[in-house]
Amino acid sequence: MPPLREVIARHGLTASRALGQNFLFDGRLLDRIARIPGDLMDAEVFEVGPGPGGLTRALLAAGARVTAVERDPRCLPALAELADACPGRLRVIEGDALDIDAPALFAGRPHIVANLPYNVGTALLVRWLLADWRLPDRSPWWASCTLMFQREVADRIVAQANDEAYGRLAVLGQWRSTARIAMTVHRSAFTPPPKVMSAVVHLVPAEAPAGVSARTLERLTAAAFGQRRKMLRQSLKGLDGALAALEELGIDPTRRAETIPIGDFVAIARVMDG
Ligand code: SAM
Repeated sequence: MPPLREVIARHGLTASRALGQNFLFDGRLLDRIARIPGDLMDAEVFEVGPGPGGLTRALLAAGARVTAVERDPRCLPALAELADACPGRLRVIEGDALDIDAPALFAGRPHIVANLPYNVGTALLVRWLLADWRLPDRSPWWASCTLMFQREVADRIVAQANDEAYGRLAVLGQWRSTARIAMTVHRSAFTPPPKVMSAVVHLVPAEAPAGVSARTLERLTAAAFGQRRKMLRQSLKGLDGALAALEELGIDPTRRAETIPIGDFVAIARVMDG
């Protein structure tokens, strides 16, 4: 394949601020990101927002079969060249990842890999974390998620109770997955450089806690962290069964949401679902 910068120049792919485009060109960095999910030889990968295809190249070089969803039609000719160079290994879908029924694209469980605008990435992650798992053992439709976020959002996903960054995203991110920051990425690695630093978060599904619905946990964390400085007895007042669950579990209702560990949120949701 010709160098990425040459492909971008030939197709006139100037980065669009409206689409949150900050491209990565450093092949070694892209290879490191592509190694985070583990061995990708013949594995299915769902890449969201391939842009001109830098990360896509690294994933293909790692042996993956990639399905990529890209919203910017300007990027499609460059991605088509990549697909031609790797026959049968890259499927490109033009569209908005927020509108696509991603699980329906795969027979097995893909690894998800994405370098997205952070707001789109957060919305998709929350959706993937809360999706009703379609498999009988309630395991998710994805094998792992490797997602670039701005550093501050990455910190929120991996935070623990009492951390400054702890909140709804940490509970949703970790209640049935393990989440870690796999690498930090300096802003200067991107073209154009964003204002803030970035980090790649790696999530792997863990066993789903029994007797807890994603819907209840979603409502519970929305209420608890919607007013995070308030005591639970205040923030959970309007939520059916929540205060009774606190009492049953012996959790002091004068505590604030930011002090409640993830396991306790799961326990509260379980009692509410009871
Ligand atoms: N993956 C490339 C890289 O690492 O250089 C591009 C990253 S750039 C930060 C984000 C990409 O996501 C852009 O190509 C943009 O057009 C695409 N994008 C933004 N919103 C999207 C959406 N809702 N659905 C699909 N792609 C989207």
